[in-house]
Amino acid sequence: MSRNKIVVIIGAGPAGLTAAYKLLTETNDIKPIIFETDREPGGIAKTLFYKGNGIDLGGHRLFSKNNDIKELWLEFLPLNKNTDENENIMLIRKRFSEILYDRKLFDYPIKLSFKTFKNMGLKKTFKSGIDYIKSSLFKRKELTLEDFIINRFGKALYSMFFEGYTEKVWGRHPNKISKEWGEQRIKSLSLSNVILNALHLNGFHKETSLIDKFWYPKYGCGQLWNLMSDKIISLGGEIHYNCPVINIENSSDTIKTVMVNKNGNIENINCTACFSSMPIKDLLNIMCNTPSEILSISNNLPYRDYMLVGLELNNINLKDKNGNLTNDCWIYIQDERVKAGRIQIMNNWSPYLVRDKNKIFISVEYFCNENDRYWNMDDNTFINFAISEMVKIDIIEPNYVEDSTRIKVKKAYPAYFDTYTQFDEIKTYLNKFDNLYCIGRNGQHRYNNIDHSMLTAIYAVNSYINGTDKNKIWNVNSEKDYHETK
Ligand SMILES: Cc1cc2nc3c(=O)[nH]c(=O)nc-3n(C[C@H](O)[C@H](O)[C@H](O)COP(=O)(O)OP(=O)(O)OC[C@H]3O[C@@H](n4cnc5c(N)ncnc54)[C@H](O)[C@@H]3O)c2cc1C
Repeated sequence: MSRNKIVVIIGAGPAGLTAAYKLLTETNDIKPIIFETDREPGGIAKTLFYKGNGIDLGGHRLFSKNNDIKELWLEFLPLNKNTDENENIMLIRKRFSEILYDRKLFDYPIKLSFKTFKNMGLKKTFKSGIDYIKSSLFKRKELTLEDFIINRFGKALYSMFFEGYTEKVWGRHPNKISKEWGEQRIKSLSLSNVILNALHLNGFHKETSLIDKFWYPKYGCGQLWNLMSDKIISLGGEIHYNCPVINIENSSDTIKTVMVNKNGNIENINCTACFSSMPIKDLLNIMCNTPSEILSISNNLPYRDYMLVGLELNNINLKDKNGNLTNDCWIYIQDERVKAGRIQIMNNWSPYLVRDKNKIFISVEYFCNENDRYWNMDDNTFINFAISEMVKIDIIEPNYVEDSTRIKVKKAYPAYFDTYTQFDEIKTYLNKFDNLYCIGRNGQHRYNNIDHSMLTAIYAVNSYINGTDKNKIWNVNSEKDYHETK
């Protein structure tokens, strides 16, 4: 049977690619056509190469409690111990990350170890213990993220390890962020859970935030999306890069035509269905006749943008006691003197990402808002700013830097404040369109990881093929314990 039913997919990130792949492998009459603004696949989970050095847009760990997702990853990149001989393989990496606080490195997640107590000092350790007991006995009414965290960790630990960093990431104080964020991202993580994990008393339940091993493709997370897009094309799908979807023609309940800008040529594509992983805010603006009350909610959905500076170094001050490069994949920077939020050490994600084994390639991460003063700095000024911050916190000396690059990522984080409280109205409106499926992270305005984003695509394909309702798609990663126990 020929593939004569056209399904348009907006975006070649993990969600869009998964949707196309599943439509090809589970039907024999549907032709998925992906339109992607960017020039390559992977969305924000891609790996960019700068003069031979690979850099994720924030290191992307692959972990999931869903077996279908894990099988899908391994279908493209099997686990293999002969890492030098084989190219398309998945590595198992040890998660090792630390927190730079008060000029000292603490284990992440915080461990009940001599090192922690020594770094904190007697006074802070004592205060943390007392505050934790207090917060366990007298729970706050949970309205904000601040209440949520204090109830689980106590005030002292909250002030040390959460308050400043959360504000850095979101640009808002935790007392201005709803508790829903905590419920979704931190879930059941608490000091008592950390203690149970430290004592190995937590049975098989391991909190996602505490997982200590993860999978990672040999040449960066982007390798997975490159392989997946090749497969989609070989199975008969199409992917068009540099091709933004700029308009959608719809009736009150059906998507009819999608307009794309193909290198300056405008084309209209009729489709039987449309799977969209583009930001909901943008989607509603290019659809016809979106009611003004829906637009006023979607236009005020908040996002946090993100920048990174890649630095190739001939040396770094982060060494273990034998003088070798630290094992950290990344380090959280909780130091109010600097704006940088994290440092990723790409050598420790995969040694195959680094061009010269004698060099160190790090990326310094910044959370910001599009068009704020940091975003608008020119590349050289911003790179010099990042270098000066790394010098200030003693990570490098200025003469360690051999090369540098800067990357900007718009809408990296869909945020849960402002009009997000009215998000259900958007969902109800979008659900009226029988043949429209909103998938992925910004596609659902949900703080999804890769596995969640892919799962929304799998459920959307099932719903489309079987004509079932769309609740399962929207519910991915929304329930409190979703994916946490298995
Ligand atoms: C810093 C950071 C670190 C992260 N770390 C992890 C991690 O360790 N593990 C993990 O599992 N997840 C992680 N994530 C989350 C992960 O990146 C996302 O879940 C995943 O990339 C979402 O996939 P997606 O396909 O839904 O969206 P995206 O990756 O955003 O892809 C959407 C695509 O749509 C395209 N598009 C947008 N508008 C249009 C248009 N009009 N026309 C055509 N194309 C369009 C975009 O160019 C993009 O390629 C991280 C995210 C960030 C920001």
